Amino acid sequence: MPQDTLASLTTLRLGGPAGTVLTVSDPAHWPDATRVVGHSKENDPVVLGHGSNVIAADAGHPGTVMVMNTRGITAQKLDDTTVSVTVQAGHPLTDLVQWAAAERLAGIECLAGIPGTVGAAPVQNAGAYGQQISDTLHSVSVWDWNMSCLRSFPIQACRLRYRNSRFKENPGRWTILTATLHLTHAPAAPITYRPLADELDVPVGTRPTVPEVTAAVLANRHRRGLLLDPSGPDARQVGSVFLNPRVTDAQATHWSGLGCPVHRDSDGQLRASAGWLLEFVGCRPGQTITEGVRCSERRTLTITAHGNATATGFAKALADLAIRVETATSITLRPEPTHMGFCTRSP
Ligand SMILES: Cc1cc2nc3c(=O)[nH]c(=O)nc-3n(C[C@H](O)[C@H](O)[C@H](O)COP(=O)(O)OP(=O)(O)OC[C@H]3O[C@@H](n4cnc5c(N)ncnc54)[C@H](O)[C@@H]3O)c2cc1C
Repeated sequence: MPQDTLASLTTLRLGGPAGTVLTVSDPAHWPDATRVVGHSKENDPVVLGHGSNVIAADAGHPGTVMVMNTRGITAQKLDDTTVSVTVQAGHPLTDLVQWAAAERLAGIECLAGIPGTVGAAPVQNAGAYGQQISDTLHSVSVWDWNMSCLRSFPIQACRLRYRNSRFKENPGRWTILTATLHLTHAPAAPITYRPLADELDVPVGTRPTVPEVTAAVLANRHRRGLLLDPSGPDARQVGSVFLNPRVTDAQATHWSGLGCPVHRDSDGQLRASAGWLLEFVGCRPGQTITEGVRCSERRTLTITAHGNATATGFAKALADLAIRVETATSITLRPEPTHMGFCTRSP
């Protein structure tokens, strides 16, 4: 696969040619990188981490694709229990979680096994097992492409909520360069998620050690097919393809009565299980949706690419599934991954 395609930079392995690929490995080179790239509204650079949450268009991207590969963790003790941890955007999230477990620092243990970079985690407020990056994020430093300057956003300015943020709303406007988290020397947060409590064989509400929770999350993700295995049958994927949709009180009562899991998210909104809704309209693990596009062998909400799949075909398959669900249930599914190639920078 040629290096200058978006397919080579994304876990779905879909996407056409990139004008130029610029890998940023040294934070000190960032100012030079911005000068090399230049930018205009017509030819914005796009930024990628590990490409695990992106559907890149077959047409590719004519401008520069910047791949964040900066690494490094610096820790500063704030008081007896709190440590401020600043991480370079290109640092793998899994590596940060393992580092925190080794240091017995609590706050991100449930994020174990989520693919991708630390810099991308605030973009969709990455989370799992009842924990989100917003629980511990303190601030981010960003490059503002509109104003051509460095800025710092405290967490309140990031507008993080269920799988969303100001960065996801305004694709391309800001590139996150570092993220600062406040982690604590304490047991892990109380376990709120039943399957994780079962994995640990403890009651809900227990606070095991950080390494225990990290290991249990990885074991549970492995069991449920939530780890990215580049050599397995579900190798080409972006994780969950739809957000759990918001539902009204009446819809929640109706659909939970039929067996659909409904939960209240951290913003207080009722959300139905997107995976259950896909199964309601007939999707099953391993099922072919269209040529080269299948439900994962392990879970319906993960859709995988195969053979000569195209980004257009993949995106259309998702749109068709959303229409099937809306027709049958009046509930609107929205895609979780970013559709790259259709995005423009906001004013
Ligand atoms: C098997 C699997 C399991 C997954 N499980 C979960 C899960 O449990 N929870 C969850 O939340 N997600 C999950 N995901 C989705 C994905 O891993 C996360 O969204 C992750 O944070 C994406 O990181 P990335 O570096 O790959 O981002 P990319 O896919 O490279 O980018 C995603 C978006 O962020 C933007 N972006 C990337 N880096 C930056 C930056 N430095 N500054 C500004 N914008 C940037 C990109 O332009 C793009 O819009 C899963 C994916 C897979 C394949």
